[in-house]
Amino acid sequence: MTPRPETPDVLVVGAGLAGLRTAALLAGRGHSVMLIERRRRLTEFIRTTGIFVRKTLTDFELPNQHLGPPIRTMVLYPPSLSRPVTLTSEQDEYRVGHMGPLYEHCARTAENAGTDLRLGTRFLGPDDDGGWLLRGPEGVYRVHPRFTVAADGARSQVAKHLQLDRNTHLLAGAERVYPLRQTTATPAFHCVVDPRLAPGYLAWTVNDGVHAHVGVAGYARRFPQGIGHALESYAGCAPGLSPADRHPPQAEARGGPIPVGGLLRRISSPRGLLVGDAAGAVSPLTAGGLDPCLRLSDYAAETLHRALVRSEPGVLRQFDGAALRREFRGRLTLRHALAQVRTPAAAEAAFMGLRTPAGRAAARHILFAEKSFPDPEPMRPPATSPLRRTRFPV
Ligand SMILES: Cc1cc2nc3c(=O)[nH]c(=O)nc-3n(C[C@H](O)[C@H](O)[C@H](O)COP(=O)(O)OP(=O)(O)OC[C@H]3O[C@@H](n4cnc5c(N)ncnc54)[C@H](O)[C@@H]3O)c2cc1C
Repeated sequence: MTPRPETPDVLVVGAGLAGLRTAALLAGRGHSVMLIERRRRLTEFIRTTGIFVRKTLTDFELPNQHLGPPIRTMVLYPPSLSRPVTLTSEQDEYRVGHMGPLYEHCARTAENAGTDLRLGTRFLGPDDDGGWLLRGPEGVYRVHPRFTVAADGARSQVAKHLQLDRNTHLLAGAERVYPLRQTTATPAFHCVVDPRLAPGYLAWTVNDGVHAHVGVAGYARRFPQGIGHALESYAGCAPGLSPADRHPPQAEARGGPIPVGGLLRRISSPRGLLVGDAAGAVSPLTAGGLDPCLRLSDYAAETLHRALVRSEPGVLRQFDGAALRREFRGRLTLRHALAQVRTPAAAEAAFMGLRTPAGRAAARHILFAEKSFPDPEPMRPPATSPLRRTRFPV
C-alpha cells in the first residue's frame, strides 16, 4: 500500500456511460479526475441493449459510427402473438449503440479531457483515515478525493459508504446479441407482453437490419423457471426474426439488474453524489436508463464544478433526488399497472384496449415520447453556463 494517498479533486467509481460522461465533463473543465473501473476492458461484460431514444439522439452528440441504423417501427404483441399492434413513426425513434466501441470512444473523450482512467481497479471501501481503499493491478492503495461520484451501477457499494439511498425495486434482464444472417425489410423493435416470459415487464427483439438483440426482463422471483429458461423459451419463438436468425451459432450474453423504483431521494452528501443506475435514474416504465444517465451526469458535473470552483457551501445539497423524483409520478403509476399483469389472459385483455384509437395514441405517447428523463431545473434553458447552452459531445 502506498503511504501517501492520492488526492484527486474527484474520484468517479464505475466507467459505464454515467461515469464516463461525468468524468469527461469534469476533467474538461480543468478538475483532476480519477475514474476507476473494475473491468479490465470496457468491451467486456456489457449489460445494456443500448437502445438510444430520439430525445437523446437529438440532444446529445453521439458518435454516428457507433450507432446502428435508425428504427421507426415498434410492434407490440400479446402472449398469443396474434393481432399485434404496429406503431410507425415519421421520425427515427431509436438507434442501437454498438456499446463496446461506444464505451471505448467515451473513454478516449474522457482521457483526452485529462481523466486518469484506471481499468482493472476496484473500489473496496473506506480506509481508516476518511478516504477510500482501491485495488488495482499494482495492489491495494488509498485515495483521498475531495468528492466521490458513485457511478457503480444498480447495486452501488459506493452509495452505501456515502450513506446515501440504494435501489431496492429491481428487475432482472438478460439478452443475446448477434449479427443477423438475413436482413429483413424493416428494422423494428418488437415487444411481447407475456407474464410467463417476462413477469412485470417485456420480452423484446430488436432487429435493426444488422444485429439482433433478443431479451427478457422481469421481477426475478416471478420467473417460473428462472430468467435463463425464459430467455431460452423466448429465443425459440421470438417475433421479428427469420427462422435462420432464431438460432445463431454464437451470441454475446448481456444482462443485469435494472432499477425501476424511480430516482432515489437522497443522492448527495457533502462527500459526493450518485449518478446513473446508482441513483435509480431509469424510467420506471420503459426501463430506459441511457438518456437519464447522460442527463443526470451533466447535472452532477455542473454541481461538482460549482462546488469545486466557487467552494459554495451546501451546493451538493441542491443535487436533490426527492425534488426531481416528483416528475416520475406518472411513470411509477404505470410501472405499478404493468407489474399487475400477472396472467396471459390479463395481457390479452389489455391488448383489447391497446387496439382502440385511444390505446394506440397512449402507446405512441409513451413509446415515441418527446420526454424522457426530466432535465433538472438548473440544466434547462435559458442557459447561463456553457454546459447548459450546448451539450458537450459524448
Ligand atoms: C438487459 C438490460 C438492457 C437494457 N437496455 C437498455 C436500453 O436498450 N436502453 C436504455 O436506455 N437503457 C437500457 N438499460 C438500462 C441502462 O443500460 C442503464 O440504465 C445504464 O447503462 C446505466 O449506466 P451506468 O453507467 O449508471 O451503470 P453501468 O453501465 O452498470 O456501469 C457501472 C460500472 O461500474 C463498475 N463497477 C461496479 N462496481 C465497481 C467497483 N466496486 N469498483 C469499480 N467499478 C465498479 C461496473 O463494472 C460498471 O462498468 C438496460 C439494462 C439492462 C440490464
